[in-house]
Amino acid sequence: MSSGNIFLVGLMGAGKTTIGRILARKLGKRFIDSDHEIEARTGASIPWIFEIEGEASFRRREAEVIRDLTAQDGIVLATGGGAVLNPDNRAYLQARGRVIYLRANVASIMLRTSHDKNRPLLQTADPRKKLEELTAQREPLYREIADLVIDTGRPNVQSMVQTILAQLSALEQSGAAARSPEPTPSMIEQSRIQLNVSLGERSYPITIGAGLLSDPGLLAQHIGGRHVAIVTNTTVAPLYLARVAEPLRAAGRDVHEVVLPDGEAYKTWASLMQVFDALLAAKCDRKTTLVALGGGVIGDLTGFAAASYMRGVPFVQIPTTLLSQVDSSVGGKTGLNHPLGKNMIGSFYQPRAVLADTATLHTLPARELSAGLAEVIKHGAIIDAEFFGWIEHNIGKLMARDAQALAHAISRSCEIKADVVRQDEREGGLRAILNFGHTFGHAIEAGLGYGQWLHGEAVGCGMVMAADLSQRAGLIDAATVARVRALVQAAGLPVRAPDLGTARWLELMEVDKKNEGGAIKFILLKPLGAPSIQSVPQELLLATLAACVG
Ligand code: NAD
Ligand code: MG
Repeated sequence: MSSGNIFLVGLMGAGKTTIGRILARKLGKRFIDSDHEIEARTGASIPWIFEIEGEASFRRREAEVIRDLTAQDGIVLATGGGAVLNPDNRAYLQARGRVIYLRANVASIMLRTSHDKNRPLLQTADPRKKLEELTAQREPLYREIADLVIDTGRPNVQSMVQTILAQLSALEQSGAAARSPEPTPSMIEQSRIQLNVSLGERSYPITIGAGLLSDPGLLAQHIGGRHVAIVTNTTVAPLYLARVAEPLRAAGRDVHEVVLPDGEAYKTWASLMQVFDALLAAKCDRKTTLVALGGGVIGDLTGFAAASYMRGVPFVQIPTTLLSQVDSSVGGKTGLNHPLGKNMIGSFYQPRAVLADTATLHTLPARELSAGLAEVIKHGAIIDAEFFGWIEHNIGKLMARDAQALAHAISRSCEIKADVVRQDEREGGLRAILNFGHTFGHAIEAGLGYGQWLHGEAVGCGMVMAADLSQRAGLIDAATVARVRALVQAAGLPVRAPDLGTARWLELMEVDKKNEGGAIKFILLKPLGAPSIQSVPQELLLATLAACVG
């Protein structure tokens, strides 16, 4: 990036000024706060400008300041929370530097701003409600222009600055320049990994790399007919939909967009109907390709739509979460939730191709990144001890979203899962080993109520418990359990299980759908890098619960 500018955006109280100052010092750049600049130019304080001139006038002054400051080089600029409302401001910020969105939740902003009288927009009877409204209005705008999204929930500012620096350098290296300069085809080519999921005539390629979405030819080569329907959601659409849709349109395809609401709660029959309604209304024929652009929810639902629309149409997956890149992109499971059970309706249906663009992970919330890492760690733990060791050495890079580290983790994960699936496509037996950590994990998810912990968080903790149980069953030593726990923790995942009460724990594990007969079957390690499916004496299980809960 030529200007070397860094622009911080986000709501008031997210820490833009504090973090901006430290970043500027570390990077040898000049720090400027746009609100201070406005006050300096006007000779009046922000609350005073709001009071006397009103918000519209303040916004005009702000736009002038942003236009002038973004024309400079080598600065770190903290912008006002509302600066992104103005499209000109967004365009300047996007074009003239790296934009970092510092994301904070309403509760922490409330804490940080509770005694601050310099926040005119919060001088209302119900500041929490106001903040919620501001979040809903501005979040999509912050995301639209952000090169990096950083969650500011971390305990200390220094570690957050370290994360930002690591991610900035990963961004520079990855060639993931979203806008300023586009990565050249040769840069993309070099860092691209391609693997094949061999399932006879249902075989398909998975391409992994940074910047795949900026290569218009890549997707086009997997699309046969005239019609293409891209299914995505309200979070992913503003980030990536245009980049996928426009080149196809330019190439003369009829591109239809179906944007569903975001969330597991919408992995339903009603959403499926919404997809079918759009396809039928647009007269999509049997050669229509469905493209899933999003995480596992969109992937599973779109896959099932493709499996059943006109008895089956081609389907391409563009997974944009780490979890969907490492897990749901292999195996062909598609489907949706029924009010009486998750993933209860569906079919096995393989995609024509999977494109995993690691650059899309830069906008993924930190919790979702960690959740995906849980499945990566799982693949190492049950199949490949050497890969497990590689993850241990590279967990810092993975957390910093280093493009090359991510590409390796994704490709090795896909290889491992593809290998298991090839041997057991329809889940006859072997495929059960992919449920390592899941018996405990499902109990946590169900016990706390779905959505409290992310699936990957529950699996992370579940793997620690399964490792503990493996040791009690005499299959691995204490040092191995410690390694599993340390890695899960380093991936930002919980390692202590919630206290559901012993009776409830046992009850929840018994209903796990993978159980047959009376005894609970656990996927254990024997040793690290190899699975063993066993039932265990109740007293060992109780000892694991006692050791890991609380
Ligand atoms: P998800 O699809 O809900 O995505 C998580 C969140 O990240 C969502 O809010 C989403 O909108 C957002 N998001 C997606 N990409 C983003 C990006 N690049 N930047 C910013 N935000 C982004 O959840 P998930 O973890 O991807 O998938 C979970 C689902 O996958 C579950 O429904 C599960 O049953 C299913 N799953 C399927 C398989 C399979 O084999 N088919 C395997 C594992 C999980
Ligand atoms: Mg899982």
